[in-house]
Amino acid sequence: MAAMSSGPEGDATRVKVAIIGAGFGGLCMAIQLDRAGIGPVVIIEKHAQLGGTWRDNTYPGAGCDVPSHLYSFSFAPNPDWSRTYARQSEILAYMEAVADRFDIRRLIRFNTEVAEARFDDDRGLWLIDVVGGGRIDAEVVISATGQLDHPAVPDLPGQESFAGPRFHSARWPDGLDLAGKRIGVIGNGSSAVQFVPEIAADAARLVLFQRTPAWVSPKPDRAYTDAEIARFRRSPTAMKLHRAKIFLGLEKNFLVFGRARFAREQFQKQALAIMRRHIADPELRRRLTPDYPAGCKRIVLSNDWYPTLARPNVEVVTRRVAALRPGGVETVDGARHDLDVLIYATGFRATEFLQPMKITGRGGLDLNDAWSEGAEAHRGVAVSGFPNFFMLFGPNTSLGHNSIIFMHEVQATYITRCLKRLFQGRRGQVMEVKAQAMAAYNRGLRAALDRTVWAGSCNSWYKTADGRVTAQWSSFASRYWWAMRSASLDEYAFTTCDAPVRALSQSQALTTPAGAS
Ligand code: NAP
Repeated sequence: MAAMSSGPEGDATRVKVAIIGAGFGGLCMAIQLDRAGIGPVVIIEKHAQLGGTWRDNTYPGAGCDVPSHLYSFSFAPNPDWSRTYARQSEILAYMEAVADRFDIRRLIRFNTEVAEARFDDDRGLWLIDVVGGGRIDAEVVISATGQLDHPAVPDLPGQESFAGPRFHSARWPDGLDLAGKRIGVIGNGSSAVQFVPEIAADAARLVLFQRTPAWVSPKPDRAYTDAEIARFRRSPTAMKLHRAKIFLGLEKNFLVFGRARFAREQFQKQALAIMRRHIADPELRRRLTPDYPAGCKRIVLSNDWYPTLARPNVEVVTRRVAALRPGGVETVDGARHDLDVLIYATGFRATEFLQPMKITGRGGLDLNDAWSEGAEAHRGVAVSGFPNFFMLFGPNTSLGHNSIIFMHEVQATYITRCLKRLFQGRRGQVMEVKAQAMAAYNRGLRAALDRTVWAGSCNSWYKTADGRVTAQWSSFASRYWWAMRSASLDEYAFTTCDAPVRALSQSQALTTPAGAS
């Protein structure tokens, strides 16, 4: 695949496709475009390293709660996964290896952050302004920035006064020694559940400020044996079967989220029994017992969460945090909790898709305005009013039960199909999802979401403050696959612009080495 060329639009770099973000989504998209012979492509990455969330989340115990043989690309299986649930460093190494194997690194423009992308209606071209100056012009923009990029840090009174280190779990300081410290942790989602057990044993004291108890499921985590790894190396078929078995096993977990109350009640019964086995103190049991249906928030996977909370040096505080003081945290009942370090495990601004980038579509339409009542997209990948613009991991494509990498692959295949049609050239320069098609899709999606557990009364990053579910796909992952595979591209209008730009060809000479900046 050709990378990019400078000019002919002044100093702007011209490409056929600009992908924003070099995480799992961006890599997947670039590889699929390469296979389809679509280019030149650039991947715009704001950091100096690829990896997205797996570059950012380096907290102790960081890992994936989806099994590794499924949390990886189907087209790049890895027989060498060391354990059923890989840790962060192994996942990041996998991503780096995939980028090298498919020769994607040369397409990445590192240390480059998109400030704004605006659609030039006349020329059918996206003009992308880069923070600090510079412009990239692209016929198509594909955002692959993920949903869990921007940490959410509560704006607590007195924050600045806190004397010790305080940081978000996704910004863990290098080389931090927490041994012997009095540590406060706000939040008990998937991130906290992974790092609290890792740091609690050596802490002088750990205070967990919990707002809502989590539903906890056991994690069947173990190392693969040498014999298993050798078998996977020998037999790609054995590895594929292993992956398929994991996929089907996870698919059935969707039943917990749907109408089948029986499945949910069964899960809840088992989860509470496990909790009681580890927690003897009736008061602590009460604090840890959720009062909302399982799955409404993400179910966390852990074998050591409850044993950790039962430790004598760990306290679970359910009173709300009122303010920070120089020496610790004050809760709403006036109690002071003396702390040396405070860790925000408070999640991400997941409903603010694509922010802080400014995306302006046809006729100056601002995506933030279009999404003022909550993000919405066609099949999770396109938005009416935003021609030649696509997303990976867009609205309503997240899962609580299966692998998001599977979803990325489905979306990248669909977008590639769209671009093949677009660049055939017979039907014009610009494609845009029809407003009626998008509205009909979202009516069906909302109706299906209303029948899920997420429509319940709990808060989570799956939905906006007024209860609109913007993150989750409404059904089985396989159903999304089928819906995307069978979707007609007649849902898009193909038009020609007044003054279309000269198309770039795949073989156009390169003048700007992408990785050089
Ligand atoms: P999260 O699931 O959104 O959890 C945030 C936690 O912080 C919740 O317990 C929340 O309480 C609490 N919180 C937020 N604001 C608060 C405030 N102002 N005061 C007190 N408590 C507050 O965030 P996360 O644990 O970072 O995980 C985010 C997502 O990342 C996960 O759901 C998952 O999809 C992904 N993740 C995945 C893995 C993996 O293994 N695949 C690992 C880590 C993270 P409430 O519940 O009351 O809102």
